[in-house]
Amino acid sequence: MLTSLKGKSVIVTGGSKGIGRGIATVFARQGAKVTIAARNEADLKAAAAEIEGDVRYAVCDVSDWASVQAMVDGTAEAQGGVDVVCANAGAFPQTKIVEMDPTEWDGVMATNLKSSFLCVKAAIPHFSKAGKGRVVLTSSITGPVTGFPGWSHYGASKAGQLGFLKTAAMELSKYNTTINAVMPGNIYTEGLKDLGQDYLDTMAASIPLKRLGDVEDIGNAALFFASDEAAYITGQQIVVDGGQIIPESLEAMEEI
Ligand code: NAP
Repeated sequence: MLTSLKGKSVIVTGGSKGIGRGIATVFARQGAKVTIAARNEADLKAAAAEIEGDVRYAVCDVSDWASVQAMVDGTAEAQGGVDVVCANAGAFPQTKIVEMDPTEWDGVMATNLKSSFLCVKAAIPHFSKAGKGRVVLTSSITGPVTGFPGWSHYGASKAGQLGFLKTAAMELSKYNTTINAVMPGNIYTEGLKDLGQDYLDTMAASIPLKRLGDVEDIGNAALFFASDEAAYITGQQIVVDGGQIIPESLEAMEEI
């Protein structure tokens, strides 16, 4: 049993859908005050109403500094500070290198990687004031561990988050703040559903636990990193993928 996060002020970017919504649900269930942030206000409003607990929303584009700063400062004002930031929002358009417009590369980097830096930068004054803080990044197995055609930019952004993590862990130690990353495998979300049933079926068949992950599987890992029990863990990452990266070959999967 982890020490409760009751009353803690938590931000979850990309909290209107998918994994972010799962993270928000897990923290709200613990009694935390949660702000979910994304661009589409209608989705945010619906999610904030549907998730049980103390949940508010803020419209924010995580690739834009002014927008992130306003969202983080606004949350601090509304929730009495900022204890935990889950930098989760991300996008994964699938385009092969030969067809990719350079502006698509820049957009994915801004949404997935620059956003991690912006969220941390905006939260530092609040962590400094409180004398403590927690950051949990949502990275991926794609990039740091695996590759998939069409996701060169995505994979680079997700590996980049882990590069950012190491130095950020050192710099944030000054504010008694830890930063860690969750690396999901294939998690059943709206974004993944858009890739089609064939993709979902093939993926489930390649996972030793024989199913896609649930959004709350990632929420639970984020909760651990945010808990008092994880106070001495920083600059680290955990793979949550049902064993997906373990099999050496298709034949290995047939053996189980
Ligand atoms: P999703 O279902 O498509 O949800 C993405 C969320 O991010 C939405 O709330 C979206 O809301 C928000 N978002 C996107 N761009 C944004 C921006 N510029 N500013 C603010 N919010 C933005 O995606 P998901 O599958 O839950 O993925 C969430 C995270 O998990 C991503 O970082 C992704 O890389 C990572 N991940 C997912 C999987 C998986 O299997 N699903 C696996 C590994 C890693 P708006 O569009 O309204 O802004």
